[in-house]
Amino acid sequence: MTQIYFDHSATTPLDPRVVEAMLPFYGANFGNPSSIHSAGQEAREAIDKGRRQVADLLHASSDEIIFTGSGTEADNMALIGVATRYKPQDCHLITSVFEHPAILETCKYLEKLGYPIGYLPISAEGIVEPESLKKALQPNTRLVSVMAANNVVGTLQPIDELAQITKAHGALFHTDAVQAVGKIPLHMDTTPIDLLSISAHKLHGPKGIGALYIRQGVTIDPLIHGGGQERGIRSATENVAGIVGFGKAADLSRVEMNEEAIRLVNFRNRIISSLQKQVPNVYLIGHAQKRLPGHICLGVAGHETDAILLMLLLNEDGIAISTGSACSSHHAGQPSYILLAMGMDMERSRGSLRITLGRFTTDLEVDMFIQALPRAIGNLSPVASRELAFAAA
Ligand code: PLP
Repeated sequence: MTQIYFDHSATTPLDPRVVEAMLPFYGANFGNPSSIHSAGQEAREAIDKGRRQVADLLHASSDEIIFTGSGTEADNMALIGVATRYKPQDCHLITSVFEHPAILETCKYLEKLGYPIGYLPISAEGIVEPESLKKALQPNTRLVSVMAANNVVGTLQPIDELAQITKAHGALFHTDAVQAVGKIPLHMDTTPIDLLSISAHKLHGPKGIGALYIRQGVTIDPLIHGGGQERGIRSATENVAGIVGFGKAADLSRVEMNEEAIRLVNFRNRIISSLQKQVPNVYLIGHAQKRLPGHICLGVAGHETDAILLMLLLNEDGIAISTGSACSSHHAGQPSYILLAMGMDMERSRGSLRITLGRFTTDLEVDMFIQALPRAIGNLSPVASRELAFAAA
C-alpha cells in the first residue's frame, strides 16, 4: 500500500473541505441549472459562485471562464476553436516541442487538416527562449500556445514575455496552465494571455472538470454543439458538483498558495541538496530555480529509473513517485521526447524520477524519502536495475 504520495503532478488528493462543499450536490441539491424552478436556481447560483471563485484565482472576470470536462478538453477547445475560424492556409500556429500530449496530439490533428504548425525548441534547462518565438512568427500566425509549467520537468516558462511578443504581432496567446494554476500566481488583469487551460484535479479538486479562460473580446468556435450552455461555447448540462468542488479548490488555492509555496520550496530544496550529497550519480533535470514549488525531476546515472520507482513502491516505504520516461506508464523504457528535446543523449533520456509534493506533504514524509531513495538506489546493481526495469515494462 502506498504510504507516501509524491506524485501530485499526476493528480492530487481531494481536499476534505472540497468534498464537504460538493456533497450536497450529490444529494438534496440535484437540480439542473437550466430549470427555472427553485431546485434549478439553487444549482445555477452554485455554478455562478464556482465560476467567480475560479475567476478570482486568475484575477479574471466570471464571464471569461468556460467550464469543460478536463484540462485536455480545454486545450483542444483553445487550439481547434481558434484554428477552425480560419482556412488552413490562412492560419499558422506555434507551440513548443515539450507540450503535454493534450496539445501535441491536437496539433497533429490540425496538421492532418492542413494547418501549418511551428514547434519552438527548448533549452537544456527546459525553458522556451522568447527569442525563438520572435524568429518563428509568420505574417499569418494566428495562435501561439506555450505551457506555463512543464508536467515532467517542472520548469516555469516565461509566459508573460511570450504573451507580450505574441500580442505585439497581433496573434492570440494560449497557455496550458494545468500544472501551474494554484501553485504560482497568474494575473489575467496584467498579462496579455488570451486563452488559458485549467484542470481541477491538479489543485486538490475533483477529476472530470476543467475550464478555459477566454479573454473578453476573443471569439472561438465551439467543439461541442447542443443546448447552448456555457455561452454556447460548451453545450451540455453542467457538472454542478464538479464546478462547486473546482470553485472551492480554487478559493483555497488563492488563499493558501503563497504560504504553501514557501513550505514546498523548502521541502524541494532539502530533498535536492540532501540527495545530491548522498548519491553522487543523482542529477537535477531542468532549471534549479525556475520550477514549480513542489516539483523535482532527477536523473540517476547508470540506473534504470523504472527499477528505482518499483523499489520505492514495493518495499516497506511504499512511496509513490513517477518516472519521466514517457507521458504515461504505457511507454515505460522508451526515451522521453521531453528529455531528448532538452538535448540529453539516448541513455539519459530513458528515464527520470518525478517527485512532486503537495498540500498534505509532511516533514516526516520528506525525511523518510530522503532516506529511502539512496537505499533503493544502493540496493540496485546496474544489471539488476536493467532486469527489474525490463520486468516492469
Ligand atoms: N496539460 C498538462 C500540462 C497536464 O499535466 C495535464 C495532465 O496531466 C493535462 C494537460 C490534461 O489535464 P486533464 O487530466 O484534466 O485532462
